[in-house]
Amino acid sequence: MGSLPDVALTTEYRQFGRHHPPRSTRSTSLTNHTMTQEFSYFAPGPAKIPEEVLRRLQEELLCHKDTHISVLEVSHRSKDFGEIIQATEKTVRELLNVPSNYRVVFMQGGGTGQFAAVPLNLMARTGKADYFVTGSWSAKAAKEAAKYGQVTEVVPRGERYTGVPPTSTWTLDPQASYVYYCANETVEGVEFQSVPEVPEGVPLVCDMSSNFFTRPVDVSKFGVIYGGAQKNIGCAGVTLVIIREDLLGNPLPICPVVFDYTIMDKNKSLYNTPPTFPIHVMGEVLGWVRKEGGVQEMERRCLEKSSMIYSIVDTSGGFYSTVVEPGSRSRVNVVFRVGGAGGDEQLEKTFVDEAAKIGLLSLKGHRSVGGVRASLYNALTVKDARRLANFMVSFKEQHGA
Ligand code: PMP
Repeated sequence: MGSLPDVALTTEYRQFGRHHPPRSTRSTSLTNHTMTQEFSYFAPGPAKIPEEVLRRLQEELLCHKDTHISVLEVSHRSKDFGEIIQATEKTVRELLNVPSNYRVVFMQGGGTGQFAAVPLNLMARTGKADYFVTGSWSAKAAKEAAKYGQVTEVVPRGERYTGVPPTSTWTLDPQASYVYYCANETVEGVEFQSVPEVPEGVPLVCDMSSNFFTRPVDVSKFGVIYGGAQKNIGCAGVTLVIIREDLLGNPLPICPVVFDYTIMDKNKSLYNTPPTFPIHVMGEVLGWVRKEGGVQEMERRCLEKSSMIYSIVDTSGGFYSTVVEPGSRSRVNVVFRVGGAGGDEQLEKTFVDEAAKIGLLSLKGHRSVGGVRASLYNALTVKDARRLANFMVSFKEQHGA
């Protein structure tokens, strides 16, 4: 606090941050003209948060409601934080129509923490679990789960991940403790377009880290759904877990307390200090989703944004290409190569660099698959996607054969 004046805690000081210019535009002086450059941020996560939410948070960083303290400073045991966490849970329940026999828990450790938490809480039933491995994240989850029980991969693995294999190839075990899948593989851009059918009585577990709240889901089909917040529903630091209540109460004895669904639920996510600010951010972002029309509207926008980009890929005569099968194409991570089927790495670098120059940021593909990845999460507007689409057309005109 060294550089702040003594009056730093007065309301007056705490309101001074309100008058900054819009974040998504930047004034750039060019000789005697003043140009405003627009920015569109296509990062895979942490990702764009709606500007109006950031503005409200900016105010609350200085003073939360009439508390005279920052939202960052609010005690997790206070009435004010009680209101925040309850409001966030209420919005989660409303948006996804969460049935009353499901618990909503806010945890730490990210998606990676859940790779362990899922088997630690669910493996005890029969000691074995089935995993759909359809990309890098479900592969990591299966590897982690194998520390705690017998893991079976239930779909054939090809040389690379290009889609969800047909149901005829699935080998699901009715004795599995649970069946696990990742609804959207963020790295490869492979998305399940429907919920997989699993043997009756076997709980279905889903990692929705990158497509949570981007489409309606029938929560009653699941045992557990989880996702980190930093893509569609807030900032890094909190993981939202939705658990069917009959699955509580049977963790492995070695389950660490912070990963124990039963203890976390019993203590209403307040067994220890929760990530207070990320929970608040989630509440605000989900409030924005509700105001914009809920998950149905998010789905409509995701389809509009992604089909705009895929149609340019498909009509580019091979200049742009994707290996993802049409039926598994992600609506939120569009992954493609530039300059022919295998991609031309030099041209891809030029693509990413030239895009950045006009304010289309963070388009580089994951290092394991290369190429370009446009992440089109909820906060990314149709206008942002259109700017990318226009750039793709002009880049092809300039660099195509
Ligand atoms: N699952 C998916 C689908 C992801 O995209 C990610 C991260 N990008 C993770 C799990 C891991 O999440 P975290 O980095 O929060 O541990």
